[in-house]
This record gives sequence, C-alpha cells and structure tokens, in this order.
Amino acid sequence: MKNPIDRREFLQRGIFSSAGVVLASLLPGTLRAAVRRQSTGNQNDVVQLLKPARVFTAADGTIHDGWVVLIRGERIVDVGPPAQVRAPEGTKTTELPGLTLLPGLMDIHSHIFLHPYNETLWNDQVLKEPLAYRTIEAVRHCESTLMAGFTLLRDLGTEGAGFADVSVQRAIRERMIPGSRLLVATRAIVATASYGPGPAGFAPDLVLPKGAQEVSGQAEMIKAVREQIGQGADWVKVYADYHHGVGGTVPTFSEEELRTLVAEAHTAGRPVSAHATTAEGMRRATVAGVDSIEHGYGGTEEVFRLMAQHGTAFLPTLTAEEGYAEYFNGYKQGGPLTTGMQQALRAFKLAMDARVTIGLGSDVGVFAHGTNYRELEWMVRGGMSPTQALLAATAVNAKIIRMQDDVGRIAPNLYADVIAVNGDPTQDIKAARDVRFVMKGGSIFKNRP
Ligand SMILES: [Zn+2]
Repeated sequence: MKNPIDRREFLQRGIFSSAGVVLASLLPGTLRAAVRRQSTGNQNDVVQLLKPARVFTAADGTIHDGWVVLIRGERIVDVGPPAQVRAPEGTKTTELPGLTLLPGLMDIHSHIFLHPYNETLWNDQVLKEPLAYRTIEAVRHCESTLMAGFTLLRDLGTEGAGFADVSVQRAIRERMIPGSRLLVATRAIVATASYGPGPAGFAPDLVLPKGAQEVSGQAEMIKAVREQIGQGADWVKVYADYHHGVGGTVPTFSEEELRTLVAEAHTAGRPVSAHATTAEGMRRATVAGVDSIEHGYGGTEEVFRLMAQHGTAFLPTLTAEEGYAEYFNGYKQGGPLTTGMQQALRAFKLAMDARVTIGLGSDVGVFAHGTNYRELEWMVRGGMSPTQALLAATAVNAKIIRMQDDVGRIAPNLYADVIAVNGDPTQDIKAARDVRFVMKGGSIFKNRP
C-alpha cells in the first residue's frame, strides 16, 4: 500500500494546503517543500479561523451575521460570534469579506463517468469511449464539482465503466487528485436484457458491453450484490423499473428479487438506492426496504405517502429531466416546460406535500459536471424556499447518506467542508452559482474573493 502522504502532488498545482501555508511561511525555501508534504499529512495542529460576512450553519434555518468558524486540522472546532470563539495564538485567519459561508454542498445522485448527451449520446459513451479515457474524464469531473462548491457526491453507477469509481475514490482519498468526497455504487444492478446499450436496435447476436450488471432471480441477485460490495461499493444501486424492450417503462424486478437484494446489502451494512420512475416500481422498491428512490417522476400521492411511512428518501433529479428535454425535445432553457418536466415538478410537489425526506440529487453527468447548482434552482422553482433547498443539499443529504456526524453542517467535530458564495443564497438561490472559496477537510482548494 502506498503512503498517501507521499502523493500530494496537487500542492504543486497551485491548490494549497492551509497547513502548508502556515508552516512554510516561516522556513527557507528548501525546507519548505518537505515540511509542506509532511504537515499536510498530519494537520492536527493547524488552527484556522474563517471570517466571512455571515454564516449559514445548516444546523438551523437562519443566517448569522458576523459569525466566525474555528478549525483545527481537518475538523471544525467552534462556530459563533467572534467574542465567543476563542482562537489560540498562531491561528491563521482567512478573511472572506462580503461572502456567505455555508457547509459544502452535496449532490447524492451523480455519474462521474458520464458527460452531457448533446456532446456524446449515452450509447456512444458506453460503446466507443475506452475505460481509460472515461476515467480521465471522471477525474476532471470530480475536480470541477469540488470547485463548484459540491464537496461530496454519491455516485450511483459507473454506466459501463466497471469498478473504476473505486479507483477514483481512492485517488481522491489519497489526495493524488483534487475532488469531492465520493461514495460509490460501482456497476449498479439491472434485470437481464432491460438496460442498454440495446439489446433492441442491435443485431441479436452482438455481444455488447453493458451499462450495468444484469441479473435474474435471487441467486444472481445475491451474487451481484456480494461482488459489488466486495469490489468496494458503499451503496448498492438497483433499477426497479426501466423501458424494457420496445414499449414504455415497466417494473423490471419482482418484489421478491428486490427484497433479496435489500436483505443482502443491508446484511453487509450497505444502503440501497433504487432508480424508479413508475408508481409501481417505486412501490415495490419501498416495500422491499430500499433507502432512497431516484427520479420518481411518475410518483402518485399514494406512493409518496408510502415512502414517508417507510422513511424512504427521495432524490428528484429535476435537472436531468431538463437536460433530456433540451437534448431530445427541443426545449430551450427558460422556455415553456415539456410534459416530462411538468410531470417531474408535479411529483416533486406531491413528495413535499406527503412530507417525504427530499435530498438534493441531480443525476449530473446527464448535464455538465460543476453545474450542480441547477438542481438547487429547480427545487426552488418547484416550491421549496431557498433555505429548504440548501438544507436538502447539506444537513438532509448528510442524514440520507448516514454521515450527519461528519458532514452537512457547520458544527463542532464535523469535517471542515465549507464553501463561501458571493451574496446570500437564503435570499437568492442563484448566489450558489458564484462560489469563491472551497475548503474540504481543512484544506483550501479555492480562494478567489
Ligand atoms: Zn442516474
């Protein structure tokens, strides 16, 4: 196993560590590099104070004018008014005048191995882009996501790129590359012959690479879950429905198969995310015990009530629907909504009315990485207040992924994953487009006041 401390080349690329800055400034140049490398390996002694104009902690729904945040190493120590937060001598202060500090945003439905379909159709990405090329793309996507203020992604399936997400996750963890924290699902699980490329539309005797792992029956289901977890899946992703064959979208797994998948994943301590766009697919996934349902465009009042009863989280992926409308239905941004987009917004409202836990999951990859803020704007357009949308992207998402003790709020003991934006996003959600400062685990990746 390689030592992660030796692998922090990103320091030399202009992305600097707070620890490096503090210690290196006291030393002659030759020593500086060595100390930088070592000190970033153990940031436990480095104390930093962030002084923005205001703080949104996501622990409550309000803005706190003049608050400051104290950080030691990679975690937050304290947050509050300057008179109450005691910074020890030697603390490095970063002034963020005019900016609002908030927890790093999270998008818990992404595909780092995909890029917009108006650049390259999904089939062509899976069939014609070699794995090495797709992995290089994924690395760049993770960097642009982090720079856009999204400090964590739950990546729900590699779409034909096998287990390469596990390696990208490792490279980010080892600080070989800059990128958001990554939870991975590896290949995702689909019913036999229900997922692309093909089989419909291709010669029947062609053996095609697949966008996900195909299974039928309980034995294959158990095997696929075990394989994916064995390779490093943090979450298991299953498609509860899909457009099977040449007709419309139908449930693809029996309730029994889904129950088997959930039982196997939960036994191993891995939660389950289900793609479902039909009410029946959503119902089966919910009663089978999945932890989150993705898309839900065809959700009914009844099925959202069922999800609320079961505590099943909902990720609405509204921007993906906008993307499809743009690419395939002639929709122009700001123009009249397509039927599909209206349906997605209707489901979103039904879910809110039924008090389903709603997080931010956009299906980014369908649209450009680093523009995840579009989902925040759609959630506001769909009826959430800016504050509710920001909470969905932070504290609520953290609970859905069971990491509320580590991320999602600005509070003592949590990771110092914080960003600063120009303006007040609780007043105008568009402020989330203008990210000036990004810190992940106490290291500063962007600082352009
Ligand atoms: Zn997706």
